[in-house]
Amino acid sequence: MPREYSLEKTRNIGIIAHIDAGKTTVSERILFYTGKKHKIGEVHEGLAEMDWMEQERERGITITSAATTCFWRDCRINLIDTPGHIDFTAEVQRSLRVLDGGVVVFDGVAGVEPQSETVYHQAEKFGVPLLGFVNKMDRMGADFYAAVKAIREKLNSHSYPIQLPIGAESNFKGIIDVLNRKSIVYSDSDEEGKQFQEEETSADLKEVVEKYRHELIEAIIEHDDDLMSQYLEGKEPPVDELKRVLRKAVVAGKIIPILCGSALKNKGVQFLLDAVCDYLPSPLDIPPVEGIDPQTNQSIFRKADDNEPFSSLAFKITTDPFVGKLCYFRVYSGHLAAGSYVLNSKTGNKERIGRIVRMHANKREDVSDVYSGEIAAIVGMKCTTTGDTLCDVDRPIVLESIIFPEPVISIAVEPKTKNDQEKMGTALSKLAEEDPTFRISTNEETGQTIIAGMGELHLDIIVDRMRREFKVDVNVGRPQVAYKETISKIVESEGKYIHQSGGRGQYGHCWLRLEPMERGKGFEFVEEIKGGTIPKEYIPAIRKGAQEALSNGVYAGYPLIDIRVVVYDGSYHEVDSSEAAFKIAASRSIKSGVMNACPILLEPIMKIEVVVADQFMGEVIGDLNSRRAQIQSTHDRGQMKIIDASVPLGEVFGYATILRSNTEGRGSYSMEFSHYAEVPRNVVEKIINVEKK
Ligand code: GDP
Repeated sequence: MPREYSLEKTRNIGIIAHIDAGKTTVSERILFYTGKKHKIGEVHEGLAEMDWMEQERERGITITSAATTCFWRDCRINLIDTPGHIDFTAEVQRSLRVLDGGVVVFDGVAGVEPQSETVYHQAEKFGVPLLGFVNKMDRMGADFYAAVKAIREKLNSHSYPIQLPIGAESNFKGIIDVLNRKSIVYSDSDEEGKQFQEEETSADLKEVVEKYRHELIEAIIEHDDDLMSQYLEGKEPPVDELKRVLRKAVVAGKIIPILCGSALKNKGVQFLLDAVCDYLPSPLDIPPVEGIDPQTNQSIFRKADDNEPFSSLAFKITTDPFVGKLCYFRVYSGHLAAGSYVLNSKTGNKERIGRIVRMHANKREDVSDVYSGEIAAIVGMKCTTTGDTLCDVDRPIVLESIIFPEPVISIAVEPKTKNDQEKMGTALSKLAEEDPTFRISTNEETGQTIIAGMGELHLDIIVDRMRREFKVDVNVGRPQVAYKETISKIVESEGKYIHQSGGRGQYGHCWLRLEPMERGKGFEFVEEIKGGTIPKEYIPAIRKGAQEALSNGVYAGYPLIDIRVVVYDGSYHEVDSSEAAFKIAASRSIKSGVMNACPILLEPIMKIEVVVADQFMGEVIGDLNSRRAQIQSTHDRGQMKIIDASVPLGEVFGYATILRSNTEGRGSYSMEFSHYAEVPRNVVEKIINVEKK
């Protein structure tokens, strides 16, 4: 099957937003207007296509990012759904990796909420060009100009309205296309928003249109010398030319066009789609993807070109109730045909591609070929996980993997009945396959199954999904903080395992240097053996022994992180030395070394944002202070107060309930993992004692 849509006409976009800004409604309306969906569904009636997981609907949040294909004008748009809840920032990052452009949805009343700031900065980090859509223009208190001001102040000063609203709140009627000075007014009689007409811009709006138009044009011409000189000579460049250069500036991340509308009232979504086609990049507009050639370890690049060797990134694994395991992937270069073999360059496995599907809002389409720049899903991949590179068997490349944070919280789960016991394992492993920030383990002492994730809400949702999707009922234990250990000074430490009485003996002997590393650096192992004091063949065993000892913890039984282990000396015996002996020697060296290196305990610190009514502010701050929180800032948002703080995870278990009782139910919060920090001395004892009980 040849390519259907040219690369120029392909858009891989994501809609990113703060929870409740209207991302689901906007996505859903996009699917409606692009003709792939026949009934406008209300999000909270649970009909939205993108929120296909049951309890996402119930909670009104979108957790997973699936990709849906739709068509507008002559473009094929792949809509990559991104989650809005901050507990799932890893999911947002994962989707940002594979999309070429994004639409940031703002709430026309709330303006720029801190979580939109977070996702915005992530998008910026990944170099994703953006459009802004100020939604909910129909809501009481909607203020487009205040939203634009906030966007400019908090996010990007190069944000320019390319549309202006006609009216606001219940009087919101349509939009003005700034460059064309066209007023588009929606018909009152058509609730689906398919009918609108062009009207003369009313006299009271003309002035403001001219003001923003002038501003926009001056911003555009900055990016093109020809237009600039035309303009300076007093000639206004034609609109087509202005749009061409605007596109160039958006793709380069120099301008963010701002649009407006009301997804709920079906106004403005078609023009948002126009802007996606007009201004957001195609795969040709983004730089070639960089990877590593696994054979030479050299950096190599792949262009978005069907004739290049095949390369792609698996960015999402889901379990589809009908076809089973689905692996969503983005093709960066080349072409993949169903029935062919690919190399998973991360694992070294070759896999046959049986079936490839493209997901639409209401159907799954089998496709025989996918080309560069496209997004599709492979059915039934066995050994591929999120972040793996799938590529041409003969032309391997490893694309930069997606980095996921380690879990910071865990709970024990116990099946309620024998029947549940059998199903629990399958359910958990399926869920873990989908979500790289979710882990399963077994507590060796108690035999309990432990699940770990990025926050209480994250684990709640997992337990909920087990019940709904897999019909497994479990009892859950108290949440536990994932503490870590590290060292605070450099030490040299000797480890020996020598037994030489009778028969074949044991001989392992090494000197390790343990060095603290910066927070977040993890584990590093370096070999500095000179003169063959330890033969090369035993080095992997030393690494393994060290790593195992570190993961079991030395000081308080928690895994050690941010440590470099250097093996620099030792000795061996021709006959008695073995891998096992060196492994034990390394483990002993670690155990005594860590205790001499001033070990410390680290705890996860969460970034928390609390929204409360004014009168509860004092109470809430007082309570946060008693939980060792550091208040970063407080400010107003409409009638509400916002408190930004950081707080140790262990102090805010069950915070939803606490906040509710402190605010008579008039408070909400969100939190995400920020970093690991040293536990203060006076708290360490409490933790170690409680945990040891
Ligand atoms: P998400 O959390 O960002 O996916 O937001 P949703 O699409 O679920 O919308 C959150 C709430 O805002 C829902 O109650 C929607 O009905 C409502 N909503 C979405 N768009 C609009 C809009 O344009 N105007 C108004 N008034 N409400 C909207």
